[in-house]
Amino acid sequence: MSLSQDHFVSEAVIDIQNLFKEYEHFKYSKYVDYHIKSKTLHSLLKDFVEKKFLKAELLGHSVENRPIYAYTFGDGPIEVLCWTQMHGDEPTATLALLDFIHYLSVHQKSNDFLRERVRLHMIPVLNPDGAEYYCRRNAFDIDINRDARVFISPEAQILKDYADRRSFDFALNMHDQEIYYGAGQRDKATFFSLLAPMPCEDASTAAQFKNFATAKALSYQLWQECESIYPGQIARYYDEFEPRAFGEYFQNKGICTLLMEAGGSLTDVDKRDVRKLYCLAFTRVLWFMANGDIDTSCIVNYPGIPLNVKMAFFDLIVRNVQIEKAGKATNADIGIRRYRKFDKITGALYFTSVIEDIGDLSIYNAYEEIDASGLQARSGEIYEKTVNNKKKLSSLTINELLEKGITYVRLKNAGNTPFTYIPCNLIHQNISLPLDIKTGNEANMVLGKPGKPATFAIINGFTYSLMTDLNLVKNARVYHKSDAYGNTV
Ligand SMILES: [Zn+2]
Repeated sequence: MSLSQDHFVSEAVIDIQNLFKEYEHFKYSKYVDYHIKSKTLHSLLKDFVEKKFLKAELLGHSVENRPIYAYTFGDGPIEVLCWTQMHGDEPTATLALLDFIHYLSVHQKSNDFLRERVRLHMIPVLNPDGAEYYCRRNAFDIDINRDARVFISPEAQILKDYADRRSFDFALNMHDQEIYYGAGQRDKATFFSLLAPMPCEDASTAAQFKNFATAKALSYQLWQECESIYPGQIARYYDEFEPRAFGEYFQNKGICTLLMEAGGSLTDVDKRDVRKLYCLAFTRVLWFMANGDIDTSCIVNYPGIPLNVKMAFFDLIVRNVQIEKAGKATNADIGIRRYRKFDKITGALYFTSVIEDIGDLSIYNAYEEIDASGLQARSGEIYEKTVNNKKKLSSLTINELLEKGITYVRLKNAGNTPFTYIPCNLIHQNISLPLDIKTGNEANMVLGKPGKPATFAIINGFTYSLMTDLNLVKNARVYHKSDAYGNTV
């Protein structure tokens, strides 16, 4: 492949705008999925190891005996440690790292420049069991990022032991955050965020840590870079001291440590854009480190980085819709979020939804909104007959069912998977479900003028417009006895 090598001038500036433009040429295009498991990752990296581009070292094993490797790049004097997916359901940084490695492998000047200045130690997928089941915690159900004091999980012990063996100058703690944060305010979702973790609880003592000050300067420089690509969407993670987190642990040990978090946006459900920015940010922060290009006068600007606003966004808000209870009606907003889950049977990821708030949600934004003025929200109903098999099911006209307010069909043998790609929920025979429009319940309802057929259906938190046939349903649910949500009749 040919890259415009002149864009990537080795010495002073690897310009983020140029990296942004060139990304499509250098990204690791062999792997574009949203999620990655450790076995796949290590098999992809094998190639780079065989070509002696990276060195691999087996560090140990997870609770379920999956290997954890460190990959090193470069021979330089500046020692940098980074790790990804200590939370198994946070894959973006791992994929960004793949892009970065590929970038260096195809760009000789950048490769040479970094190789002689840094020694980069990467521990991708520190929590391979969590990655296997797409969950945050390890197989003991321990949050590894709350285990940096006593190291009771083998994965935390592995990270600690590896760091103890060397004298690291920098550490990068790489995560994904919820996609519902606002960047400083509620009108723009956080696409990417940063933090210089506190080295100790006492702010005046913390100020004496030189590495902490450097981390703040670096964070600010990196914020400026990312902000130039996504203005108003780059934030700072709140810096309450968490003594059990690895960022705090390494900062306290004198290693200049940064936390990096991938956020999200509606147009980027599979996080390819944020993976791209993550790769660029990672490249830029390494350049700052390699060049010693750290402007400590930036420290005063660090507090000015907008803070993440917790849970500022919903996936979907149905605005100003009429709801009824006990013969009374009122108009309210309904806020819905969707969560990715792991299906143990097929190994696939699917979405479940939750009605998280009802009321005046005017202070919140959503990735998607429905103005339901003049419409009434009605709980989804169950089709009156039990359908014998999937063939019979396909003979039903979904639009007709939805117009009548039916969002569930009982199916005699609905299989074992908890989701379906048809835009109607399935219920495995005799399971009872809470159907109400109520916080905590899954989001299945129809919207229509009072006494008239529905014009919108909300299926598993996704919109289906019956006026335009706009179907945004990624998946509906299949409810089973074994489902925590389904109770046997
Ligand atoms: Zn995390």
